Amino acid sequence: MIIIMDPEATPFEIDNVVAKVESKGWQTRISRGSGETTIGVQGKGQPLGSFHLGQMAGVREIMAITQKFKLASRAFQPENTTFTLGGINVGSNQLLVIAGPCSVESKEQLFETAHAVKEAGAHFLRGGAFKPRTSPYSFQGMGEAGLKLLAEAREVTGLPIVTEVMSPDKVALVSIYADVLQIGTRNMQNYDLLNAVGRAHKPVLLKRGMSATIEDLLMAAEYILAHGNHRVMLCERGIRTFDNKYTRNTFDVNAIALLKELTHLPIIADPSHAVGVRHLVPSIALAAVAVGADGLIIETHPNPDKATSDGDQSLTLPQFGELMVKIRAMASAVGRVV
Ligand code: PEP
Ligand code: MN
Repeated sequence: MIIIMDPEATPFEIDNVVAKVESKGWQTRISRGSGETTIGVQGKGQPLGSFHLGQMAGVREIMAITQKFKLASRAFQPENTTFTLGGINVGSNQLLVIAGPCSVESKEQLFETAHAVKEAGAHFLRGGAFKPRTSPYSFQGMGEAGLKLLAEAREVTGLPIVTEVMSPDKVALVSIYADVLQIGTRNMQNYDLLNAVGRAHKPVLLKRGMSATIEDLLMAAEYILAHGNHRVMLCERGIRTFDNKYTRNTFDVNAIALLKELTHLPIIADPSHAVGVRHLVPSIALAAVAVGADGLIIETHPNPDKATSDGDQSLTLPQFGELMVKIRAMASAVGRVV
């Protein structure tokens, strides 16, 4: 439910409504959009009817949210969710660029990448230490040793770390080292994991399941938000379609534009996993920015042919630098800064 206050409502009247609602065991989230204040009501409190909320001073309207996703919806919170991490205001006019290898492989590989992507203008460093591989015989990641290397790379470059967590029992461990917890495509509907990261005090990058609808993605986000973790970024990383002869997945450009309408959460695009081939990554990255993505996550490797995972889709370090120049141009064409 959302309570829409009169544009002339006084701070006292707003506080009064919040106090009434909270006294019944609900949580509130205040949004100050274009001139009007809305109070989102969430949680599991007692019925509010007896307070005649609609009659309280300063209340203009009470609206039920009819969409299945509520906390994630624009109706619940009209203005964009923004939060600051590593000096970057995620979800604002500033475009967020996350870059780094698919997997952490060694100190040399990670540090060389981290320095190069920082130099080129990336804001966060990505790298997987726990890898969700389709085959159990493929490289599974360095585990905690990889997390330690990521933390060291942050120390020397200042770049916050984005890394995947695959199971609820690893959330505490990964949270020690990571700045952002990534939920991979294969785990988008792992509800125990969503609940666990909802309780963690770290921002979450939630990747769309490869066969998930947009509504499935928003419902998955809802699990995290329901625990009071509001720092959730959604990630379009390509979906399975009938045509996978030349590309790994199909980048759903519709999803970016539509999600910007449906939700206030920041939308990140992952062109690397979407296309699966290096030569198409720049075009799709630029398309994502053109259509309104709030950020990009791009796999980058000093020697992609030797990568333990996703080498085919990883940019070389010089290619990432060249792409950043184009990203800046595209960002400025659509009124964003990098
Ligand atoms: C990754 O980011 O390396 C990854 C495994 O992504 P996804 O879950 O989208 O496949
Ligand atoms: Mn990868």
